[in-house]
Amino acid sequence: MAGEPQDDCLFCKIVAGDIPATIVRETPTTLAFRDINPQAPTHVLVIPRVHYPDAASLAAGDPDAVADVLREAGEVAAQEKVDGTGYRVVFNTGPGAGQTVFHAHAHVLGGRDLQRLV
Ligand code: 5GP
Ligand code: ZN
Repeated sequence: MAGEPQDDCLFCKIVAGDIPATIVRETPTTLAFRDINPQAPTHVLVIPRVHYPDAASLAAGDPDAVADVLREAGEVAAQEKVDGTGYRVVFNTGPGAGQTVFHAHAHVLGGRDLQRLV
């Protein structure tokens, strides 16, 4: 069923506590933890606890969770003290865009000069 934990999903396993992660923030609906392969001094992933494969399907199935993820991205940036210098929130969607884990997640990147993308 949409939103239910998936046995083969890495991030569902992190939500369940079956795989360890360096957690920086938790809410009843979200989890934020450090990326295992950081691309910037601050590189935190914010995920909904519910399983949807990407941001668009999360938005369609559980819009409140999208708001929670984005609010938490801002809270992470403030906690990491990158809100003043600027940070980027990224949702890779699809393999062609570099998505490798198919549980919706926001990358929060900051702490270095981030070149303009678009
Ligand atoms: P995507 O490529 O799907 O946009 O992002 C997935 C991210 O998850 C990658 O940046 C990757 O480094 C990170 N990642 C993959 N496996 C693990 C893991 O076991 N633990 C943590 N903390 N991050 C992971
Ligand atoms: Zn999942």
